[in-house]
Amino acid sequence: MNTPLMKKLVAVVVALLAVLGGTVLVIDTDGPGPRPAHTVTIPSHLPGPLTAAVDSGDADRLPDTTVTAPAVVVAQAKTGEVGEDLRAENPTAGNVAAQDQAAHDDQLPLVGADAAPSQRGCLSRFVVNYSSRRGVAPRLLELHETVSRNVPGWADVNAIGVQFNQPRSQASSTYTLDREAHCLYLVRESDKPWTQAAANPWSISFEIINTATPSDRNLIDGPGRKLLLGILNDASKRWDIPLRSARTRSCTPLRAGISDHSELGPCGGGHVDTAPWRGGSRPGQVPRGAVRALVVDARRLCEKRYRAAHKPTPARCKA
Ligand SMILES: [Zn+2]
Repeated sequence: MNTPLMKKLVAVVVALLAVLGGTVLVIDTDGPGPRPAHTVTIPSHLPGPLTAAVDSGDADRLPDTTVTAPAVVVAQAKTGEVGEDLRAENPTAGNVAAQDQAAHDDQLPLVGADAAPSQRGCLSRFVVNYSSRRGVAPRLLELHETVSRNVPGWADVNAIGVQFNQPRSQASSTYTLDREAHCLYLVRESDKPWTQAAANPWSISFEIINTATPSDRNLIDGPGRKLLLGILNDASKRWDIPLRSARTRSCTPLRAGISDHSELGPCGGGHVDTAPWRGGSRPGQVPRGAVRALVVDARRLCEKRYRAAHKPTPARCKA
């Protein structure tokens, strides 16, 4: 390219950026010579962090605190599971009939609308995306993957919280946590999270920060896994949900317990999480984060807690 034309081009770009408020650096990386310098543009308006106004779990349900995450992390999170509408207020007739029967049997009002506004190890940051359980007590502890990256600190977990507080996302989870045990309690257990479509009325959901690719070493480990086992135990106690593998048909529980999104099939949104951590490549191999391994370890923790308190282990903690 001849130099006068290049100079003209640079001048046009500089003028444009001056209007837009950007900064242009004209640099010549290979010193004096025939090759023209090139320009590097530094935008003056980098996307700022995104902030969601949420409820800390005080007496009212009005926003009184915030969750903040870098825009770029929120944008990445949106490309994963949490960017999908998983609300599904109108499940099949069979499911609704089962809910009505359960609501009649459960007598949920005795529990109170704002049951357990806090959970050990998690920050209460209640979002706007939730609906009523219609008197149905939860029976399923459902594990999910965000299909987003773990980043140091709170940004990865907060990005999910920000997304779940946007009404247009039509998605939320009861809890979101990462390997480092950053945990947000986002929807009260007594309310319905929007994570697994037709199974929502029956579920307490856990979104685990995980890319769902082999770049993660397993579903969850370290302090995050320890915290997850603790919350599974606490929720099991609050709702008398046995610490065992759950079974469902058409998103209606046949056997209460712990499950993951993939086990629900099409009625749950047709997702495959917690793949690829559901089974090992060799027969009999159970990855440390897999649902089966979590069930066994949640039960162990339960036994340990009751032994320490010199109390008999309740039936829900036995295989
Ligand atoms: Zn899921």
